[in-house]
Amino acid sequence: MTHLKDKAALITGSTSGIGLAIAHALAKAGANIMLNGFGDAKEIEALRSSLEKTYHVSVGYSAADVANKEALETMVENTVKELGGVDILVNNAGIQYVAPVIEFPDEKWEAILAINLTSAFRLSKLALPYMIKADWGRIVNIASAHGIVASPFKSAYVAAKHGLVGLTKTVALEQAESNITCNVVCPGYVKTPLVEKQIAEQAKAHKISEDAVVRDVLLQSQPNKKFIKPENLADLVLFLCSDSAEGMTGEVISMDGGWTAH
Ligand code: NAD
Repeated sequence: MTHLKDKAALITGSTSGIGLAIAHALAKAGANIMLNGFGDAKEIEALRSSLEKTYHVSVGYSAADVANKEALETMVENTVKELGGVDILVNNAGIQYVAPVIEFPDEKWEAILAINLTSAFRLSKLALPYMIKADWGRIVNIASAHGIVASPFKSAYVAAKHGLVGLTKTVALEQAESNITCNVVCPGYVKTPLVEKQIAEQAKAHKISEDAVVRDVLLQSQPNKKFIKPENLADLVLFLCSDSAEGMTGEVISMDGGWTAH
């Protein structure tokens, strides 16, 4: 499957979890990739070069903190310099913090809004001119079931993800007559390193088994009681980037094991 050959894809938060799975799927389909995210420099370099060798595509890396406006500008400039444009933008980087509103630290609110929402606005603004010039583009935003429904103690995350859904629809409408689509994917719980860490911590905190944490705490809202697989989400993103999805824009697409069917 090489239908994304020579397309340039910038994927935020792609050194781990869902973003990394998306990088694999798009590279496998022939896209050149700009990785972004934090982590050990040696491990990231090993990852970058192994993606290049495995899929025979160009892979760059930007250490940009997506909360930093200037860093985003530089990342987009470097993507254009190294990969020839920005045809695909996946806004995936995200963080979480859990506390009731009355105790929620202001700086955590601001960080979550900056990383999970404002970065997607800024990167869309920076990448769209290149997509318009190329007369083709795909923006895929990674929100969450929390972009559609809420849970207690996650005010900033829920607000940011709902905001991302709204941003997606607006960008889609503005670009509706062009060959640029903008869609948002809303996953339920996905077993990424982040969630694996939570399972161990919660088991300790609640003094229950890890299986009980998965079933009764994390997957309480997810009727199928199974984690979403990162590679399945990546296949959905790949489809949204394909020409077969040209008629899909402004769509809010769930992969949440029935969560939002409640
Ligand atoms: P993860 O922690 O495994 O990966 C997050 C990535 O974002 C990492 O590469 C990290 O380095 C990067 N990142 C974090 N802050 C950054 C910043 N300021 N600048 C640049 N990069 C930054 O998490 P994940 O589970 O793969 O989550 C990816 C996205 O999917 C997030 O937006 C998250 O909200 C969303 N999501 C996750 C789940 C889940 O259950 N794991 C469910 C729904 C939605």
